[in-house]
Amino acid sequence: MTFQSSNKKQKAHPGEVTAVLRRIIAENGREHRWSYAVVIVCSLLVSGSTAFSAWVMSPMVNEIFYERRADSVVWICIGIMGAFMVRGFAGYGQAVVLARIGNHLIARYQKRTFDHLMKLGVDFFNDTRSGQLAAQLGGNVSGIRDLLSLTLISITRDAVTLVGLIGLMVYQDPVLSLSSLLIGPPLIWAVVYITRRVRKINRESVLINARLSGSIQEATQGIAIVKAFTMEEELSRRIGIMAETAEQRSNKIARVSERLSPISDMLAGLAVTAVIAYSGYRALVLGQPPGSVFSFITALILAYDPARRLARMQVTMERALVNARMIYELLDLEPKQGDAPDAKVAHFTSGEVRFDNVSFRYVEEVPVLQDLSFVAAAGKMTAIVGASGAGKSTLVALLQRFYDVDSGTIEIDGQDISKVTKQSLRSSIAYVSQAPYLFEGTIRDNIRYGRPSATDAEIEEAARLAAADEFIRQQPQGYDTPVGENGATLSGGQRQRVSIARAIVRQAPILLLDEATSALDNEAEARVQQALIQVMEGRTTIVIAHRLSTVVNADHIIVMEQGRLIEEGTHASLMADPHSVYSRFHRVQGKKGLGLVDDARPIQTQPPLSRAEKAAGRP
Ligand code: ADP
Repeated sequence: MTFQSSNKKQKAHPGEVTAVLRRIIAENGREHRWSYAVVIVCSLLVSGSTAFSAWVMSPMVNEIFYERRADSVVWICIGIMGAFMVRGFAGYGQAVVLARIGNHLIARYQKRTFDHLMKLGVDFFNDTRSGQLAAQLGGNVSGIRDLLSLTLISITRDAVTLVGLIGLMVYQDPVLSLSSLLIGPPLIWAVVYITRRVRKINRESVLINARLSGSIQEATQGIAIVKAFTMEEELSRRIGIMAETAEQRSNKIARVSERLSPISDMLAGLAVTAVIAYSGYRALVLGQPPGSVFSFITALILAYDPARRLARMQVTMERALVNARMIYELLDLEPKQGDAPDAKVAHFTSGEVRFDNVSFRYVEEVPVLQDLSFVAAAGKMTAIVGASGAGKSTLVALLQRFYDVDSGTIEIDGQDISKVTKQSLRSSIAYVSQAPYLFEGTIRDNIRYGRPSATDAEIEEAARLAAADEFIRQQPQGYDTPVGENGATLSGGQRQRVSIARAIVRQAPILLLDEATSALDNEAEARVQQALIQVMEGRTTIVIAHRLSTVVNADHIIVMEQGRLIEEGTHASLMADPHSVYSRFHRVQGKKGLGLVDDARPIQTQPPLSRAEKAAGRP
């Protein structure tokens, strides 16, 4: 299952807001309990002062305008001034504390989701586009905050205020209160209807926006290819379509959710009109003093805002809910290739690697490795040769436990790698990939990723062995020069050597090497080769070989075809048999005058040898 595909099958149900909310509170509630207490006190103050300012209308009208008492003016004015000040400060306190809780939550979920992402298997990242993932995470994390702060604000500020004002209304005039509360049921109905409509569009909108930002990110990352293939117009067209779709979705959300405004305004107008008509009749015909009616109408008008916000809350929360749920979908993904419960910490010393009848498939029905058995001797170099798609990279991935084998075992120094912790397994392996990846930070940081405890001296020593020291020192700030995105400021060969230095610093007994096929110029290639000889020294090296020189110098060669081992031996022993795939392969490559053994396709395109040809010893 992937993060993306799981999106489709989700169907929200009404109780879900509460379920997600309960989880957020359960996971984060305790930590902020004092802050919540402050928020609640502030809310009570806001609510109380609001109700007070409505209540004060009654004595104001009765005593100042009806009974014309001058002395009351002073204390009523002081009271109103005081109420507004309390409301202002309490509102400030409430907003600041809520923002702090919210910002803390965002930071916390960002860390949490990233930690979790790092635990997920390679398969998750194969199926998920990274730009999209980053965009989606950024947006979704704020959903958690919004869900919590919306609820908190609604419950504390709006609901408490509303309760205060309704209490005052009932106190002033129970009959009028009852009649104005009649607008409640139709309002609730409208909210339920709109929420349901908006739910689906919200999810679509979140996804399309994530796709949009993801695509923009990918396009900028691959800018060299974009320009080389003059893809600008086509990409602009695609991004344009996505932006327009996102725009339409947002418009639709606005159209649907804003329907609440006319409905609630009309209902409120109805209530106010009814109250004025009825109380006017009472004042004019029955001669009641106007104070309580003023107070009532003020409370009613003041109640309108929190009531409308509460009604809208459900609709606004929908989006936050969609976001929050996506975060939890990700957090709930179980990392695969987990450590066995009794997994031990591995201590590999010599680093002999043994594949025993290993079979593996990524998807059902398509075997990628079949009954693969070989031994990569300790301290020696084993080269893997085979056409593209033969399963070479898969073999290297399995050895690092990016995936688990379907059957068979992989052992290092006689220990089954599925019975040791992944952490200890991987720290025994140094990997140099075909396209070296450099991370944000300085050159020194990038080498140190090999072993965080490495000293500066060790880092420089590793760089020297990797023939990288010289060019690093020529950089503007030497080892402390920041690398551009994925090392854009370094040449291909230099990046390779930095990644080789990273592998040397790791001091791991096993080295996995995916040789670069990319065209390094001759000098760069020679330097990289020289660096590699250093790092291979005394290590068990398994290399996916693309270069003739590597294969020729290997202690052992494994030839793979369609997930099977078809031949193995040394260069000399394999060449001794003129019918061997390996020797045929060399002849083809030799004729073409290629120095690279990249993707031995020529072998596959040749028809099988006829018996007569074999007998004649001709290819
Ligand atoms: P090689 O490194 O020899 O070129 P790979 O090990 O990369 O070969 O691939 C072997 C086979 O596995 C290929 O047919 C490839 O299409 C398939 N394959 C590789 N990675 C995946 C994956 N993540 N999901 C599904 N199939 C994959």
